[in-house]
Amino acid sequence: MKFYKVLEKNLEAKNISFKEFYDSADVVEKRILEEYGALFVARGGVTIPTKIVFKNEDEVSGFQSNLQISKENIGGFDLELQNAAMKDLLKSIKEAGENNLSITPRGADSARRDYAQTVNLWASRVNPALEHWSKAGKLSKKEADKIRSLLPFEQVPEIFKLEEKGVFFSKDLSKSIVYSVAPPGTSQHLALLAFDAAEYKNERVREILAKNGWFQTVVSDLPHFTYLGVKESKLSDLGLKKVENCEQVFWIPNI
Ligand SMILES: [Zn+2]
Repeated sequence: MKFYKVLEKNLEAKNISFKEFYDSADVVEKRILEEYGALFVARGGVTIPTKIVFKNEDEVSGFQSNLQISKENIGGFDLELQNAAMKDLLKSIKEAGENNLSITPRGADSARRDYAQTVNLWASRVNPALEHWSKAGKLSKKEADKIRSLLPFEQVPEIFKLEEKGVFFSKDLSKSIVYSVAPPGTSQHLALLAFDAAEYKNERVREILAKNGWFQTVVSDLPHFTYLGVKESKLSDLGLKKVENCEQVFWIPNI
């Protein structure tokens, strides 16, 4: 419950009521808050999204246009993050260098993303999975076509319903799609507070990032780091709890 309290305070500071922000009867919002919610209690002077799900490009660009953004070329890619997040990423990179390590992005979309990119990533999982499950007889052609005809954000609750029946949409079809890609309009990359590191398997790299406010917060998304802007010892005060997966540590909302 502590997580909700911290979140409520964050929102109050922006004159947004918790009720306006979060509809607990909305299965998508509930799930997104549980899985990706750590971002909403981030500190360090960053701006958090005032919505759990952005519904279109206008909502995303409206939010992004009010951010203070830094742009840097890292590992050959132009990346954009909120100022504080970039500052602490550059600190991490410097510290890694002093230890003969490097921290580099996995690709061009490792930091800032726009709405369309989240839609395309979503479709890259949903479309092959619909085909697979239709062929496997778990889904009728009519059901698959119906999902294809929906707007991206309308597809999300339908996919969640199928996953409850064991029809999974992650890349390897073995788990929920939320551990593979974020539903459209929900990626932490839209908030410019996420970075996908190529060296995520290196424990020292993870320690250096954590020392500088960057933590893994999405269980199963191993290369994905979120800027929370505090030391690890403060994370439980933000209503986050520690879970382990694949011998790595994740900080998720304690709900
Ligand atoms: Zn990521």
